[in-house]
Parts: sequence; C-alpha cells; structure tokens
Amino acid sequence: MNSGYLGDKTPKLGFGLMRLPMIGDEIDMEQTKSMVDKFMAKGFTYFDTAYVYINGKSEVAAREAIVKRYPRDSFTLATKLPLWDKVETEEDMQKIFDESMERAGVEYFDYYLLHAMDKEKFEKADRIGAWDFIFKMKAEGKIKHCGFSFHDSAEVLDEALTKHPEAEFVQLQINYADWENENVQSRKCYEVAVKHNKPIIVMEPVKGGSLAAMVPEAQELLKAENPDLSIPSWAVRFCAGLDNILTVLSGMSTQAQLDDNVSYMEHFEPLSEKEHAVLNKAVDILKSIPTVPCTGCRYCVDDCPQHINIPEIFKALNGYKQFGSLEGSDKPYNMGQYEHATKDGGKASECLHCGSCEAHCPQHIHIIEELEGAAKAYEG
Ligand code: SF4
Ligand code: SF4
Repeated sequence: MNSGYLGDKTPKLGFGLMRLPMIGDEIDMEQTKSMVDKFMAKGFTYFDTAYVYINGKSEVAAREAIVKRYPRDSFTLATKLPLWDKVETEEDMQKIFDESMERAGVEYFDYYLLHAMDKEKFEKADRIGAWDFIFKMKAEGKIKHCGFSFHDSAEVLDEALTKHPEAEFVQLQINYADWENENVQSRKCYEVAVKHNKPIIVMEPVKGGSLAAMVPEAQELLKAENPDLSIPSWAVRFCAGLDNILTVLSGMSTQAQLDDNVSYMEHFEPLSEKEHAVLNKAVDILKSIPTVPCTGCRYCVDDCPQHINIPEIFKALNGYKQFGSLEGSDKPYNMGQYEHATKDGGKASECLHCGSCEAHCPQHIHIIEELEGAAKAYEG
C-alpha cells in the first residue's frame, strides 16, 4: 500500500487490462472475471484500461468483470484518451470520452490519462486544448485525477511538467533492465517526475514480458538467490520499492500470472540490498550480450534505395538479442517494435546488398549481415 498519493491509499500492484486472456478475437470473460475476483479478494483495487486496448473491448471487459460486479467505491478505474490523427477538436475528444464512459459503464473515471505522450503529442495537446478538456471533465465530476502516460526522453518530460504543473500524476515505463538505458531513460524520467513531485504509476515493469524470458544465466542467478520467487517478481518488486510510486501495473493474461503477482505483492517487501546486488549482476549479464553497436546517427539511411530504417531495425534486433522470445512463442518478444520500424520503409529482407549504407557507417557495422539476422528473426 502506498502512503496515500492524491488522497487515495492504493495497493502497489495494479491490473493492466491490455493483455487479457482471449478466445480467438474475443476476451475470455469467465477467466477475466475469475482473475478480477482473486485480485479484489486479496485487497488489490487498481485497474488500468484505455480507449484503444483490444480494439475497445478492454473497457467493455472492465464494465462486465468489475463495474457491474463490485461497488463503485471499492475499485479504482483508469482509462486514456488517444490523441491520434482523427482527434482534432473538443467534439472529437468528447465523443471518445463519452464512448469510454458508456463502454465502461461508469459515471466517472478515477484516473484519466492523455495516452502515450511524446514531444509531438504534447504539442498537439496544447494545440487542440486537450488539457483544458480533461480538466473540464474533472470540474464536471467525471474524472477524479488527470495525468498522462509517457514515452519520450527525460528532457521532454521535464518540459511537459514545467509547462503543465496541473498534471496530477505520470505513468512511466520503468524496469530494472532499462534503468540506465539511454533510449528508454527509465531512471532519468523517474528522477524528473520525483523532482516535480508527481506520483508515478509504473507501466511495463517486466518490459512487455521480456524480463521473464531473459537469457538462462541471468535467470539462474535470480533463482539461486531465492528459488521460491518467480523471475517476473524481481521486476515488479524493483519498481514497487522506489519512492513516489502510486502503483505498478502488470498486464496479466493468465490466472497463473495473477496468482504469482498477488502471492508476493500481498505482503510486499522491497528488494533488500543483497537482492539489489544480485539484480545488478543479472543486468551485467544482459549488458554483456553482444549487440549491434549502432549509435543511431542515421548516416546510413539517406542513400538506401530501399528506404530501410536501419537504426530502428537495429534497436529492435538488439532487444531480441538480449531477450529472445516470450515463453511458448517462436516470435521475437518485440515483434511490434520491428513492425513499427518497417512500417514506412523497406523490411530487412528487402536489402539489395548494394553496400551504400556500409560505406557511410562510422561504426563499420556489417549492416548487410545484421539485416540478414533481423530478417531471419522477424520475418521467419
Ligand atoms: S545494402 Fe541494403 S540496407 Fe544498405 S543501402 Fe543497400 S539496400 Fe539499403
Ligand atoms: S550509420 Fe551505422 S551507426 Fe549510424 S545509424 Fe547507420 S548503422 Fe547505426
């Protein structure tokens, strides 16, 4: 339980409703209800959905599994406003907000977030009056607390919180493997939020599940320290033990994941000094895995006849080299990252082997060979 940020005493494990159990294209509601029941029975209360999760079905699942079955003041429900291309006016935002309320079957949301904010989206939010809109909904009693979820650099976060001190909380990607990662900037973003005195909701503490699938040597280290603790438990406890944490979200897909999470979070103990040291060793193992030494300078990109986004593909490939595939899957854990990297240009397999990129690369990377590896991993 945290010490009462924003007037609420929130248990430090939240239920992310973005990866619910599915049967085909539909959410497995029986299993979802049973997971919700166990979660609530163990004293946990925070649920996180979004307008876009599972094509809108996540908000509906929240209604069916939580809102209709529990008193409104016994749980906390958060959802999010997407600022995607179609959203340009107050009417557009109102339409989405009303739809979220209807789907979720509530009169108010406890937490409401501008979704997946970055530099560009902050500019858009200012331009279309998104902050005014969400605080208007708050003034009407339809939102209790307004904040945003964030995916950009610490510098952008600092600018945003300086410009919008009215934001009551932030939702950040924090995990121990990316704590010092310059792309994700977990620690730096965390420190900016603390500097601005904002309570933090943690998302992706297990790095999209990849920290449950890291290389065997790193897993063995954690198991040797405590064979009774699951590998993901280290990741959740790392985040929950930080100061200023309102709650840590876990996107649970199975009853087994839920059972595991509640087993160690019911009587939460932060990582001990010794456990921190063990975790640091596991991170050292991850860092020692050879990755593509791409600096993201982009000198290779302009002359590529296939418009292959080489540095972004290498970013994805480096993640794959460290974390591989999720349990029970032969696909890289970060397939979505590769798809994003190739959505506006060529795929790795479309490389013509012309060599123009290699001639420009100051790191002398064997780009063609690495792209072949990416093609094999992501395109099968
Ligand atoms: S070798 Fe491949 S990636 Fe490099 S410039 Fe040519 S087509 Fe593009
Ligand atoms: S030129 Fe080399 S280091 Fe720079 S982005 Fe391309 S591959 Fe990476």
